[in-house]
Amino acid sequence: MNGSQRPRRALIAGGGIGGLGAALALARRGWEVRIFEQASALDEIGAGIQISPNGVRVLEALGVMHRLAPAVFEPEAIEMRMGRSGRRIFRLAMSDAARARWGASYLQIHRADLVDALAAELSLIAPSALSLGARATGYGPGPVLHLEDGTAAEADLVIGADGLHSALRAQMLGPDRPRFTGMMAWRAIVPAEAVATPPPPVGCIWAGAGRHAVTTYIRAGSVINFVGIVERTDFQSEGWSATGTAAEALADFDGYRPEVRETIRAAGTLHRWALFDRAPLARWTDGAVALLGDAAHPMLPSMAQGAVQALEDGWVLAAHLDTMPLTEALPAYGAARLGRTSRIQRVSASNARLFHHTGPGAFLRYGPAWLAGHVAPWVLHRRTDWIYGWRPETLVT
Ligand code: FAD
Repeated sequence: MNGSQRPRRALIAGGGIGGLGAALALARRGWEVRIFEQASALDEIGAGIQISPNGVRVLEALGVMHRLAPAVFEPEAIEMRMGRSGRRIFRLAMSDAARARWGASYLQIHRADLVDALAAELSLIAPSALSLGARATGYGPGPVLHLEDGTAAEADLVIGADGLHSALRAQMLGPDRPRFTGMMAWRAIVPAEAVATPPPPVGCIWAGAGRHAVTTYIRAGSVINFVGIVERTDFQSEGWSATGTAAEALADFDGYRPEVRETIRAAGTLHRWALFDRAPLARWTDGAVALLGDAAHPMLPSMAQGAVQALEDGWVLAAHLDTMPLTEALPAYGAARLGRTSRIQRVSASNARLFHHTGPGAFLRYGPAWLAGHVAPWVLHRRTDWIYGWRPETLVT
């Protein structure tokens, strides 16, 4: 409540994982929230994503875990194997080991299932919060959000959770300057029963020269999620609407293990997305307007942290707004989040080609991980403590 005892109001551009997570975090603290989503349906886009323990802890705090049980898959481990020989380089135990070390599970889920669960939980507190087919075009002056249909809404706070090509970020900080990485991502979901030699029930990275694949499971193990990252400069379109053929993807993964190639062969639709890198922003707030998620820190997928960091953002923003006036809370939120997300952006960029080595180069690159995995697996766990060990009660990192 504010001084006049009316609930404080927030307007959110974007109903992805970031926007919905922030809306739920605020609504649980008594805010009146409205989300404006440009798509005509919430689950229009998506594929499998990994939610590491730091993200699962936010989902627990938001009270949505009970909705996710049939949708998730909990892998026994994360493994790295050579894509052609299948030789295992390392295995990082998850399930019990993740819960024991980081206090939460490591899960895999379809983006649409997570979006649906967040929206369903939000609708219990704020039944009419969501407007679909509503595109935001800009903000201001003050906490005002402008929509494409020429209308505007006013509140106490405006949040830009409008993703990679954020209109609110462009207004706040000027045009985006993405740098093409020279890589593209294939993405597909495939019924597990359609694959004769399915990948192992883990999160598996299949390394190779100039490319790597990642296979994971979602929906209680009934669906395989395939991501293939390839060094290729002939495709530079950023967005999931583009597709390619199985023949092209199979050519990119020529000589790979059947677990990968048969998954590609059984894929109905193969989406592709050129990977662009963006430098961390200098700030995320402007008066009563705050950015979060991909709008604030677009990152390459190599650490599987984009959606997880969006969930962390929303929680931390809501928690700051609970403990200080808005004019102090927004800069404090930006300061609390910028260091951590910038570090993850930078590591994601430098890791992008980490699994693209073969031959003697591979021995040098992967030798330490192989040794640690066999002799002292806790070393590998310890290297991820700074990411997975984050807890929602941590406001400043
Ligand atoms: P988005 O999910 O992009 O949502 C933004 C929403 O805003 C969309 O619904 C969009 O329609 C809407 N919108 C956009 N513009 C407007 C506007 N002007 N007005 C109104 N609405 C608007 N992350 C992980 O944590 N784990 C993973 O394993 C993982 N794997 C990935 C694999 C690949 C290949 C890629 C490319 C990404 C991966 N990510 C992963 C990243 C993750 O998908 C994103 O970081 C995450 O979805 C960002 O959430 P968001 O809500 O900020 O943005």
